[in-house]
Amino acid sequence: MYKIHNYIDGQIVEPNSDKYLTITNPATGEIQGNVINSNKYDFEKLITSSKNAFNLWSQETPLRRSRILSNFKNLIEKNLEELAQIISREHGKTFEDAKGSVTRGLEVVEFACGIPHLLKGDFSQNVGRNIDSWSVRQPIGITAGITPFNFPAMVPMWMFPISIACGNSFILKPSEKDPSCANKLAELFTEAGLPNGVLNIIHGDKSVVDNLIEAEDIKSISFVGSTPVAKYIYREAANYGKRVQSLGGAKNHLLVMPDANLDQAVDGIIGAAYGSAGERCMAVSVAIAIGNIGDALVDSINSKAQTLKVAPWTDNEANLGPLISKEHKEKVENYITIGENEGAKLILDGRNYNIQGYENGFFVGPTLFDNVKKEMQIYKEEIFGPVLCVLRVENYEEALKLVNEHAFGNGTSIYTSDGDVSRHFTTNCKIGMVGINVPIPVPMAFHSFGGWKQSLYGDHSMHGMEGVRFFTNLKTMTSRWPKSITKGPEFKIPTN
Ligand code: NAD
Repeated sequence: MYKIHNYIDGQIVEPNSDKYLTITNPATGEIQGNVINSNKYDFEKLITSSKNAFNLWSQETPLRRSRILSNFKNLIEKNLEELAQIISREHGKTFEDAKGSVTRGLEVVEFACGIPHLLKGDFSQNVGRNIDSWSVRQPIGITAGITPFNFPAMVPMWMFPISIACGNSFILKPSEKDPSCANKLAELFTEAGLPNGVLNIIHGDKSVVDNLIEAEDIKSISFVGSTPVAKYIYREAANYGKRVQSLGGAKNHLLVMPDANLDQAVDGIIGAAYGSAGERCMAVSVAIAIGNIGDALVDSINSKAQTLKVAPWTDNEANLGPLISKEHKEKVENYITIGENEGAKLILDGRNYNIQGYENGFFVGPTLFDNVKKEMQIYKEEIFGPVLCVLRVENYEEALKLVNEHAFGNGTSIYTSDGDVSRHFTTNCKIGMVGINVPIPVPMAFHSFGGWKQSLYGDHSMHGMEGVRFFTNLKTMTSRWPKSITKGPEFKIPTN
């Protein structure tokens, strides 16, 4: 049993609060640790530290900030295995998955190392006669991020490297379900030379989130999590005059045209639907079989899904691990029951999945529904587990309509060898991230990550230039260059 406390001013601090939340091992169902649920005195300490840090850090040159980020990048690389172990132990995902997720976060640090270039600004000469105009981006102040359980390193790293590179201080409130990774990242950043207080970690539940929203000194909130909470954060934080980027849930559709390379499509679907036990906001949870490809698609997914190994992260051969909690396992299993009752054809049932020695773990096996209809609850709602719904439609037009009429708009993908259809799809789908013959079109760090509709509330996506814009205030100067009336003949300017 271990205890996780706040990381403030470059160190772990003793809390004032005496309330703790439990951290469970998803593979065994046992409580393995506790995390502090911070109170208002812990919060006050946090704000003082973040405020002092901002005053100094915002004066630091972008080049020096970049050098510290570069040291941080090297330390993450050096500690990649340890970070991945911390993630797998609390989240339950496979070790390879955990390592991959740290690497995706690391790429944002690499992007942020280019901050001197990214903050260069614009210049226009002669906007009027002898008048020039230029723009700069300046830090906004104390910024805060609230993150979900499913990517304890990657999602926070979508936010804090860029905010800090831009000259802000950053407060992270990680998920209470897997909080340890955040502290380790903060320790490594301190070791890299980041001044104390520039990155602080506060732990807790909704009460801490509400403190962040209400704090006058905090200028922006970045959120990633479920849609109901994303909506709440967007509304409340805007009400307190904050800048907000609030990313919500998803129901990502993958279209399979009759001319698709079926093996490639099925391999893509298997990884995207069942990898990370479906607990990914870019997971494929809906496959749309177009035309006559339905039977072959369902048969192939079914046979490949049955070969997947569901096991704890300590098993090197595991393809997927457990779900995050008992409540979440029950929720996912309940959706499977709902799907049956709604009349969808249950091809593969992942309920009551037992692994010897891990009988109390939160495992759900790969699940496959065929003949799902758009009116069904299992189609409309986010399940966030290893459950794939197959819908059959006659043509591409019908499939596009399904994609566009769905409430979520995070990611989508199409498998086809037809350039015409692909181009129509990328142009006309109402979705933020689109793949052509790739299953999970997650943008790289130098592009930006974000969905449409109920998958994102706010004006800016995460990382890439969108991140730089979100974490800076734009200032534009206009200057007429005066002639000094006191200067002598040595200032004479030649006339053309
Ligand atoms: P969640 O919304 O339950 O929690 C996210 C964060 O909000 C946590 O830090 C939690 O402590 C806090 N929180 C929870 N309830 C709250 C409340 N009522 N008021 C204020 N704060 C609250 O999400 P989760 O279960 O941790 O993560 C899974 C969800 O995140 C899924 O819906 C998934 O699609 C989504 N997600 C989205 C993206 C994206 O990029 N759009 C990425 C990853 C995860």
